[in-house]
Amino acid sequence: MSHGPTYYPSQGRCIYCGATDLQLSDEHIVPFSLGGQHVLKGASCLPCADVTKRFEQDVARSMWGEARAAFGERSRRKKARPSHIRMVAPETGAQGLDIPTPEFPAGMVFYKMGLPGALIGLPESVDTSPLWQLVMTGDHQRWMKFKERHGWGPVLKFQHEPVSFGRLLAKIGYCQALSELELGDFEATCLPYIMGQRANVSHIVGGTLKMAPARPGLSYELGTSLIGTQEKALVVAAVRLYANLGTPAYRVVVGEVSGRCEVRRVGSKIAPENVYVEPRSDQV
Ligand SMILES: [Zn+2]
Repeated sequence: MSHGPTYYPSQGRCIYCGATDLQLSDEHIVPFSLGGQHVLKGASCLPCADVTKRFEQDVARSMWGEARAAFGERSRRKKARPSHIRMVAPETGAQGLDIPTPEFPAGMVFYKMGLPGALIGLPESVDTSPLWQLVMTGDHQRWMKFKERHGWGPVLKFQHEPVSFGRLLAKIGYCQALSELELGDFEATCLPYIMGQRANVSHIVGGTLKMAPARPGLSYELGTSLIGTQEKALVVAAVRLYANLGTPAYRVVVGEVSGRCEVRRVGSKIAPENVYVEPRSDQV
């Protein structure tokens, strides 16, 4: 996907609730606070933006706040970046230890997940999120230097936010699909999970169990594919955040396309290498 700011035209209604009579604000596919540069113009109404903002903040601040500060990620807040970050650990005593920001050995936690339930035919009632494994990625050199200097390993501070993380991935995947497809091209089965009306986000969000190699210089990778049969196919988004750090790759089942004509029509909008519809029409 392209580098630098990229804008996609508004579809004239809120992508979450369909409202046409409310003011629509721009929607970053990957949130601005996580380095997002791709923007859906006029895409979300204020009440819906309030819902998505909450789980975005859970991830950007509670889960990744310390890591984002240490690695210089941008923030909308005008406050200047701190010169030091305090580490509070048993070894640092009650005061904590102020460490220069460029040396702070933060880690960024992710969840390693199995494939989304909907992609492997699990019923909606099966919640696989208790099996998600916490993994950490960070700057190995900072960790080693810190250990050499202090004689003990760094202490990581973060909040466990699996549900918000899953909802954020679902939102990113949905927005990514809408950068290639239109509202109405598919039934957006991901919406109740994004908006919090359905709880089992592992039904539509998952990953591949192996860690993908780091992609230096690339902040995120996104893609859209169509997977299924000529009668019924799933729109599946690929999402990988902080690809430069060697992070897990995720899959989001965004929606469904039904009927031979529709599957063919929607498939023609997606890059041919991302269309896995069996039997392939060239084999019929
Ligand atoms: Zn809305």
